[in-house]
Amino acid sequence: MTAKILSGNIFAQQIKDEVAVGVEAFRHRHGKSPTLALVRVGEDSASAVYVASKVKTSAELGIVSEHVHLADSTSQAELLTVIDDLNSRDDVDGILVQLPLPTHIDEHLILERVSAEKDVDGFHPTNVGRLWQGANSLTPCTPAGVIEILKRAGISIAGANAVVIGRSNIVGKPMAGLLLKEGATVTVCHSRTRDLAAVASKADILVAAVGRAALINRDHIKDGAVVIDVGINNLSDEQSVRTMFEGEELERRLGAINSKGFTLVGDVNPKDAKAKASFFTPVPGGVGLLTVAMLMKNTLTAAERRRSANSK
Ligand code: NAD
Repeated sequence: MTAKILSGNIFAQQIKDEVAVGVEAFRHRHGKSPTLALVRVGEDSASAVYVASKVKTSAELGIVSEHVHLADSTSQAELLTVIDDLNSRDDVDGILVQLPLPTHIDEHLILERVSAEKDVDGFHPTNVGRLWQGANSLTPCTPAGVIEILKRAGISIAGANAVVIGRSNIVGKPMAGLLLKEGATVTVCHSRTRDLAAVASKADILVAAVGRAALINRDHIKDGAVVIDVGINNLSDEQSVRTMFEGEELERRLGAINSKGFTLVGDVNPKDAKAKASFFTPVPGGVGLLTVAMLMKNTLTAAERRRSANSK
């Protein structure tokens, strides 16, 4: 079997187009654009890139963004005050605190302080609880993006055996909750799972969210499975790259290692996924592209819900 590639680009563009239409309608109804506050503390270079991409996409879709960049030395109390201020401002519809935070700040405390109705990352305990109750909630962007890919590709989730590898609060656990909500029979694997391949190879839908290059190979993939690769890893080992790619793609990947020192790969060996799966998402170019699109969708949803709740 040669698997079909699920390109994140197409789905991300569809979602962004829909959000842009929704933003326009919101502006007509409420006389203002949805507004997203992005809070970043310190100088983490990856965080700077992520926030810049969120600012850029907001502008493209007509969402107003406000970038609050605080010094590394910002105290926890100061950060809480900034969040309280954003919570109380009526013009701010969504608040995102870019992770990771400096180690002197308690991440849980900060995420709990963001008002649940403005929590566009879906990390507040109220939103986590609502997700597991099967109620309407703001859901974490990456797993929500995976559900969009599955639905838009016409893959049926209800009744499927879904295996999620990874149990983080950001990806694995909410992924499991969302798949359950959609009617899948869900198994969650993690670092303590015995015989990962035996469990994973039962999956009709296999989601890998671990952070280990090519951990998932042909032994983990059932014939015809749908394989979703959330992992993002910098790989510099040429030998591993040779087991994952072939032909022109291999040359391109080796070229990247030569010039940049690494190439971006997922948790799944793409050569094996291609041979055994029915569909799989590439890295880069798969799930990652949906994350920012889903953040924009959550911002619009938060803005609409808050305003309709206020008008009741
Ligand atoms: P994390 O480190 O918080 O969690 C990793 C999980 O993998 C843990 O639950 C751990 O138990 C499990 N694990 C570790 N080794 C394992 C093994 N050998 N077998 C089975 N399970 C194992 O990571 P995270 O934040 O959930 O991210 C996971 C991956 O997804 C990372 O590569 C990250 O970069 C990527 N990610 C991508 C996006 C995106 O937009 N595409 C967003 C978030 C995270």
